Amino acid sequence: MKWIDLRSDTVTQPSDTMRAAMAAAEVGDDVYADDPTVNRLQDYAADLFGYEAGMFAPSGTQTNLIALMTHCGRGDEYLVGQEAHTYKYEGGGAAVLGSIQPQPIANQADGSIALADIEAYIKPDDMHFARTRLLALENTIGGRVLKQDYIAQATSLAHAKGLATHLDGARVANAAVKQGISLREVVKGFDTVSVCLSKGLGAPVGSVLLGPKAFIEQGKRWRKMLGGGMRQAGVLAAAAHHALEHNVQRLAQDHENATLLAQGLSGINALSVAMPQTNIFWLDIPAAACEPLRKSLAEQGIRASIGPRTRLVTHLDISRADVEKVVAAFKTFFQDWRA
Ligand SMILES: *Cc1c(COP(=O)(O)O)cnc(C)c1O
Repeated sequence: MKWIDLRSDTVTQPSDTMRAAMAAAEVGDDVYADDPTVNRLQDYAADLFGYEAGMFAPSGTQTNLIALMTHCGRGDEYLVGQEAHTYKYEGGGAAVLGSIQPQPIANQADGSIALADIEAYIKPDDMHFARTRLLALENTIGGRVLKQDYIAQATSLAHAKGLATHLDGARVANAAVKQGISLREVVKGFDTVSVCLSKGLGAPVGSVLLGPKAFIEQGKRWRKMLGGGMRQAGVLAAAAHHALEHNVQRLAQDHENATLLAQGLSGINALSVAMPQTNIFWLDIPAAACEPLRKSLAEQGIRASIGPRTRLVTHLDISRADVEKVVAAFKTFFQDWRA
């Protein structure tokens, strides 16, 4: 049975053409920097996003951590949103492994960090304080797209105050496609960016960190220390390259499907649905309905992280027909359900 899996866009299966590219990849030992497929991917990604150099790593958690550890040293701090992945969902790696103090700041409803808050949280040069070195933003954040003029203002402010800027761009391609702008345009203002190939872009494994050449060279020391030095990684890089070449513009379909799904579900009285901007959205489900709903969906081949606050995610293995099937399954369940 083929599952309709709405838990995340990380669940995508490599397509036949992607698998063929992986099988055909010419490989070497990337710790010696002589895997030609990895090198090609790194150069291609750097050029695509407008950076000097790139580094392929096993996960976005690792590319973010490498970036934080390269930007900041022991006793430094970075400004980050309370809801940001690098702060909330990466096991505290910056503090645990990097000796970097996070300064979390409340995210606004649109996912941004208020400019006044950024300014207020930058510490003066005083021995009592950690040294504020870096502003880290995330785009998309919880499926929301940061506004380009906000990014320009926030990164200019950070630079004017002597801070560097990093973007957790796990889903930055979704932000670009949503706005109809280029990948170069969407990352403007950030000194470094981490991009996940294993989310909506559909590769099985991997992220790239992009930035200045010297920064990436320094970052490779941390990557090795963190256990991210891979050998014949060209097999994986071939999939990542294929994803960047073929699966960027099609993200628009995922956005469209998310909107269709949200619209369909918003017709059900028991649910409260927030309309998506990209491929991720949230809905509130009565607590008492969650367990029987989860079971009912599972019996129909639908997987979702059902809870009082449920996140649904569309991706390249979710078709329009799947969306219609999911809406019908929810409708049937709630027809019969009484609190
Ligand atoms: C998934 C994700 C990451 C990290 O990705 P992994 O490859 O799972 O480690 C980082 N940031 C955001 C916003 C993500 O969604």
